[in-house]
Amino acid sequence: MRALFRALAILAVCTLWVSPAPAAEVDFHDAHFHIANYVQRGIGLADFLQIMGDKVGRVSLFGIPLQQKWDYFESGERAPDYYLLSDSALYYYSFVDAMVAEAYRGLSPRDRRRFDPMITGFNPTDMYATDHIRRVLTLYPGVFSGIGEFSVHKEFVSSKVLGHTASLRNPALHKILKFAGEVGLVVNLHCDINTVRPVKGERPAHFDALKEIFKAHPRTTIIWAHSGLGRFVGPTPNHLELLEELFRDPAFSHLYCDLSWDEVAKWVVESPGSVRAWATLLNVHPERFLFGTDSVAPASRDAYLKTYRDYQPLWDQLDETASRKFRYGNYERIFDAANRKVRDWERRQNGGGSGSASRK
Ligand SMILES: [Zn+2]
Repeated sequence: MRALFRALAILAVCTLWVSPAPAAEVDFHDAHFHIANYVQRGIGLADFLQIMGDKVGRVSLFGIPLQQKWDYFESGERAPDYYLLSDSALYYYSFVDAMVAEAYRGLSPRDRRRFDPMITGFNPTDMYATDHIRRVLTLYPGVFSGIGEFSVHKEFVSSKVLGHTASLRNPALHKILKFAGEVGLVVNLHCDINTVRPVKGERPAHFDALKEIFKAHPRTTIIWAHSGLGRFVGPTPNHLELLEELFRDPAFSHLYCDLSWDEVAKWVVESPGSVRAWATLLNVHPERFLFGTDSVAPASRDAYLKTYRDYQPLWDQLDETASRKFRYGNYERIFDAANRKVRDWERRQNGGGSGSASRK
C-alpha cells in the first residue's frame, strides 16, 4: 500500500512537472507577443517572466521579422524605431530567429514550458522561405512551435518592405503554408481583410483571396491575426457575418482568429452594440478565438496588461466556457498539439533518435 502511495506521489509530482502553469490559476495565455521591436531591441526573458508574474501562463513568443532601416539621408540623427516614424524601408531580418531561440535556450527547463517560440525571419515572397524555416528547425531542435506572426497585407508596412510586395497570390506563400502543415507548425498570419480606405458596398479587398488561401491548406493550423483588422483597417458593417461565414463552413475548421492589439480592441469595444455582437460570436464559436496582447517589448506589467484591460467589456459578456477557451483553453489545445507534431517531425529528421529534440 505504501508503495502504491509513493508511486501516486511520484506520478503527481511528474504531472505537475510536465504541466505548464496550471490554466485554472492564470488569467490568460498570450497567443500574440513580440519580444523585440522594429529595430530588434527588446526585453530579456528573465525580465519578461517578472512582468508575466503568475497571472499569465504561457506566451507565444515572436520577434518581428522586419527591421526599420535608419537612413541618415532621410532622418539624420533622428533614429526611428517604428515603421510609422520613417519613410525609409523595412527589410527582412532573419537573425531574429536565432535571437528568439537563444533567449529561449537561456531559460531553465521549467521556464521554457511557459513559452512557445515562433519562426518569423523569412521572406514570404521567396520560394526559398521554406528552406529558412527548415534550417531554423534543424539548428534549434526542440524550440519552435510555429511560424509568424508574419505579414502579407499590412497597412503601411507592406509597401515599405524592400523588394517584391507580399501578396496572397504568390506561390511562395502556398509553399510556406503547405510546409507548415507537413511539419505541424502553427501559423500566425497577419493579413488585413481590407485596404485602409474601404470601398463602400464591396466585399473587403482581401477577404476572398484569403478564403482561397485558407481553403487550400486544410492540414495547416492557421491563426488569422486580429481577424484581419488593424489600426486603420476597421471592420466593415458585415465583418462578423464574414467571420461567421468562415466558421460555419467545415472547409475552414483549421482556422482560428486571435483578438489582440489595443488598436483592435478599440473596434471591439467601440459601442455597447459592437461588444454585444462580438460576445455573441465568441459565445457561439468558443473554439475559434485566442486572446493575445500583441504587446511589443513592454516596459512594465502595467503596459503589458493594457490590451487585456481594454477588452474588459468583452470579458464581461462572455459565458464561462467561451471565456475559458478564449483566454487559455484554445491556446493549450492548439499549441500542445503543435509541439507534439513538430517534435515528432524533428525526430524523423534525426532518423528517429530522440537527440536534442526533447527539450520541450
Ligand atoms: Zn503583432
